[in-house]
Amino acid sequence: FAVAMILDRAIPEGDGTLLTLLVGAMVGLAVAIGFIGVVQQSLTASAGQGMLFDLRNELFGHLQRMSLRFFTATRSGEIVSRVNNDVSAVQSVATNTLVTIARDACTLAATAVAMLAMNWRLTIIAVMIVPLFYLPSRIVGRIRRRLSAQTQQSHASLTAFLSERLHVGGSMLMQIYGRRDADAGQFKDHSRALRNLNVRQAVVGRWLFMILSIFSAVGPALIFWYGGHQVMREQMTLGHLVAFAALLTMLYRPLTQLMTVYVDVQGAVAVFERIFEYLDMPRDVADRPDPAPLPVVRGRIGFEHVDFSYPPPPALLHAVAPGLSYRPPQATGSPEQIAAPPPAAPDNGFALRDVSFQIEPGRRVALVGPSGAGKTTITYLLPRFYDPDAGRITLDGHDLRDLDQDELRSHIAMVTQETFLFHANIRENLLYARPDATERQMIEACRAANIHRFITDLPEGYDTIVGERGFRLSGGEKQRLSIARALLKDPSILILDEATSSLDATSEHLVQAALGRLMEGRTSLIIAHRLSTILNADQIVVMQSGQVVDSGRHEELLTRGGLYADLFQKQFAGVLEHNGAAQTATSR
Ligand code: ADP
Repeated sequence: FAVAMILDRAIPEGDGTLLTLLVGAMVGLAVAIGFIGVVQQSLTASAGQGMLFDLRNELFGHLQRMSLRFFTATRSGEIVSRVNNDVSAVQSVATNTLVTIARDACTLAATAVAMLAMNWRLTIIAVMIVPLFYLPSRIVGRIRRRLSAQTQQSHASLTAFLSERLHVGGSMLMQIYGRRDADAGQFKDHSRALRNLNVRQAVVGRWLFMILSIFSAVGPALIFWYGGHQVMREQMTLGHLVAFAALLTMLYRPLTQLMTVYVDVQGAVAVFERIFEYLDMPRDVADRPDPAPLPVVRGRIGFEHVDFSYPPPPALLHAVAPGLSYRPPQATGSPEQIAAPPPAAPDNGFALRDVSFQIEPGRRVALVGPSGAGKTTITYLLPRFYDPDAGRITLDGHDLRDLDQDELRSHIAMVTQETFLFHANIRENLLYARPDATERQMIEACRAANIHRFITDLPEGYDTIVGERGFRLSGGEKQRLSIARALLKDPSILILDEATSSLDATSEHLVQAALGRLMEGRTSLIIAHRLSTILNADQIVVMQSGQVVDSGRHEELLTRGGLYADLFQKQFAGVLEHNGAAQTATSR
């Protein structure tokens, strides 16, 4: 319009002011359009990214509350991949789709109206081939959906493989068994599968574009054929026909765009299905709507006829097959193929059967029994990592299922064989148990845990980074750090899984003394491996095959004979004297 004004009026009439104005308007318009574009982009981007932000947070929050059942059955890389890659994969759809749909639908409607106004017969012919656009889009959409699911699965598989192999333990295993080349080959297979899927996804979109372009050409051809006859019969002018054909292009372009968006959305739907599969997973250990408050705990614990068997892992349609085993790339078949039946539990039976015992407040109970007897399982039920199938577990007389999980756990600390530490400095790892602890409280806890001196001797003291999972620390050091962490939390109840690996005498003594301080005045449930722990326990619960076979104090159990006496003979009889001598030596 401005150009027309410049050519038709400003220049012929020699109007310099008008010319300047019009040129100014041209520039101004360009600037305005540019700004509108920026505003529109920033609005759509923040809306789309806001949605992804919420989705990611919700996913993380939901996964945080999943029980151990989920985490023991799912590869961590797979979980990471769903939170990361899957959420990112819906990004373009989340940010662009709505705008494209709105813009193209408007163009489509406006063009259709203009066409109808011009010539309704030709419009009907033009619209007749519109369904042709839909059919291939549907087919391609379905293919795209399948490919998209497979791609994300392949991505998860790759991430899981990476996180296992490029981890301290995994890389050590790889090197010691000389599997570098084999693993590289496997990685290549995973990577190749992902590459092929991505290529196929890209090409399938192009096929659709090609088909739709052909249809877009068919429309104008038909119009020229029919309209041409009308022009010949002088029922229409040539200009009319050309204008109509031009309009038709304007109709098909947004239509093609919309169909492309439809296919993209189909791809995103497959990814959303994976995300919602996690979000829809029910919580195994759920709280009652009105849990009983329990702000203060005395620490009386009761197991009453508890039966428990480990639930089978959650059956996920899109899960990556568990384990380290090699999966050839062609196995990335349909989701139905991948969802293998959950592996059967080792003996299909109870992990705990009719388990009953009591712990009085402040007492120490040692769990003793052969490996696989169910000792660890008992320590999992107390903080409600799982709920029992039958019977009940009580704390100060309350059924644990009537309590709030978070409140219950606030009274419990756990020191396990494997000390988990984050890749952070010592201070951060300690304060994880109690972020508001003062420097003095932290140091006090470390003194009590016999680790303060060690930490201050490190070049960076409490700011030393412990390395992934604490690989920079020795076994005894990690244990003492874990004891300090528990001391800092200052719980009423302590769950302790003593390390089976023997430490050297000095370490052993340091750990022992630290544990003694930790257990003071707390109700303690201990999976005992050390002689001194067993001898000092107020009660020993002897377990075998998920059942309590005996309980009492050391002397009683020993004189009664049976499993305890056997176990004791095998494990400790030889070291009893030596250990006693060592202890007197170190305590002197
Ligand atoms: P302990 O600590 O006495 O060595 P556990 O309590 O670890 O024994 O194990 C008791 C039984 O439960 C064993 O037969 C073990 O194989 C089984 N088990 C342990 N954890 C799981 C799990 N996550 N899923 C299925 N079975 C399990």
